[in-house]
Amino acid sequence: MDYLKIVKESLPELTDARIHYEGSKIVVYTRNKNFFLTQNEKIREIVEKIKKRIEVRIEPDTLPPTDETISKIKEIIPPEAEISDIYFEPDFSKVTINVRYPQIAIGEQGEIVRRIKKETFWIPLVQRVATPKSNHVEVIRKTLYQSSKYRKRFLNSIGKKIYLTDPKETKYLRILSLGSGREVGRSCFLMQTPNSNIMLDCGLSTGATGEDQYPIIPPDFDIDSLDAIVLSHAHLDHCGFIPYLYKMGYKGPVYCTEPTRELAALLQVDTIQLTQKEMGKSLYTSSDVKKMIKNVIPLKYKEVTDITSDVRLIFENAGHLLGSAISHFNIANGKINLIYTGDIKYSVSNLLDPAFTQFLRCEGMIIESTYGGPNDLTPRLEDAEKEFISIIEKTIKRGGKVLIPSFAVGRGQELMVILEKYNIDVPIYIEGMIYDASAIHSTYPKYLAYNLQKQIIEENKNPFESKRFIHIASYREREQVLSDEKPYIVIATSGMINGGPIIEYLKKFGSDKKNTLIFVGYQAKGTLGNKIQQGYKEVELSNGEKIEINLEVKTLDGLSGHSDRKQLLNFIGHLKEKPKRILVNHGEPSKALNLAGAINKIFGIESYAPMNLEAMRFL
Ligand SMILES: [Zn+2]
Ligand SMILES: [Zn+2]
Repeated sequence: MDYLKIVKESLPELTDARIHYEGSKIVVYTRNKNFFLTQNEKIREIVEKIKKRIEVRIEPDTLPPTDETISKIKEIIPPEAEISDIYFEPDFSKVTINVRYPQIAIGEQGEIVRRIKKETFWIPLVQRVATPKSNHVEVIRKTLYQSSKYRKRFLNSIGKKIYLTDPKETKYLRILSLGSGREVGRSCFLMQTPNSNIMLDCGLSTGATGEDQYPIIPPDFDIDSLDAIVLSHAHLDHCGFIPYLYKMGYKGPVYCTEPTRELAALLQVDTIQLTQKEMGKSLYTSSDVKKMIKNVIPLKYKEVTDITSDVRLIFENAGHLLGSAISHFNIANGKINLIYTGDIKYSVSNLLDPAFTQFLRCEGMIIESTYGGPNDLTPRLEDAEKEFISIIEKTIKRGGKVLIPSFAVGRGQELMVILEKYNIDVPIYIEGMIYDASAIHSTYPKYLAYNLQKQIIEENKNPFESKRFIHIASYREREQVLSDEKPYIVIATSGMINGGPIIEYLKKFGSDKKNTLIFVGYQAKGTLGNKIQQGYKEVELSNGEKIEINLEVKTLDGLSGHSDRKQLLNFIGHLKEKPKRILVNHGEPSKALNLAGAINKIFGIESYAPMNLEAMRFL
């Protein structure tokens, strides 16, 4: 359908209008400032008719100069908002204002932003600066500003592809499993209709070696035919392979939330550094990560977006990780609706609200099963928290140190929020990457649990900025901490002890039974973490070095970012509409199969745990 023509014909008064696509959005450029300021009603009517988003902007060459605009913005925004910097993207007629306190800069019901628009004609976007300061967030934002021209062209080409093709009738929907079939790791599905080839996640398998680390790419797979990648969240088992696709020539978009973009890039760059150090080479480089960042089309929860001619996408909160999303695919105008949960947590945590269940339509579903086994029942959060604190107190009392291996993203921040609540009288060290990830959390508070969000935005009490936590940013600082004789707590990566600074702490403190190691997340088979959890008294690093394990080892299940068996079944039970068919993935074989059986027995829904390379037809 030629929507541009419809918009053009609906706006006869705008003789100079330049109309084009920007992804799934339609953008109208004009020199008519009066229309720009008063067009609301007219535009709303067109939006109602064609059900597409439309944005009106002033032609860049008609906008006031940037220095003049900066003075005006500084005049309008109250100083208490603390402006840090202002960026212009003339190609989008957009000005981004980075501030410490966005709610002050935006004003009551957006009143200040509206005033900026009215007085400068630029489209203002107010963004929160990362606090504590994060170089990572700054680099990503700079990459985006600097590639403004490229993004303009890219978004336009995507829009043309979505709307100007002559779609075939959507006669089938086929899901092909390329990873995470009866295993935890390398999540990857290919979703195909006669018009679309969409990849759902594309991750690596932590703990696996050789080819088994990567999704299985079938020989007839053609990267040029891939229309889009939809990324559920930033963990490497979901996003770790994406930069490699760019390296191999993929030129299309990745749809994800803004925090997922930031966190994914952080973890990808880290994995490059880690494998470089260990193997002397890496699968891809940071320039491939950059290619991905430039091609991300960020979506907010509940925002409806056409991603191909017959697939519409809506993200909802998954409760698993900052920015994690359940993907709701509306296919062929609602002919069928498929829900891909990604990883979900259907229960409250300190960090995030429980996963969304109120989908209006849902005929098919893909659900994870990490803790889907019959014995996977995790304790209540309050009990887990109490046990966590009691283990720490006991260790401190006997003069020991507490080592907590943690994913940089998610568990690390959950632990920080818990530790902030209790008064523990020893230093708490936070290793570098966990600290960066915390900054991303406070940059996007709207993705956090309602209460935490309120605390950060309204009361200005940010646990991630608490003085209680000491940031270890360099090798030297780590050396100092390692030689400290007194009790302390350290939270360090990696979460499964397959690399990262936690290894240094384990080497130094692993042999002394005064110390304690607390596992707070999933330990995949083959990782050092898994071996230690099973009770190995000695483990071997990849370089052959041996570590004696004599310290106390504890596992806390209640702090996991995954749903346990009961929560997974509750999630299905609380769905507004029950799917007719469910695929179970992201679980060890026995757990995936057992959960599929239970879903069938309890809800009478046809369920199956596919193996990799199995294809299922939904339509
Ligand atoms: Zn995850
Ligand atoms: Zn996962």
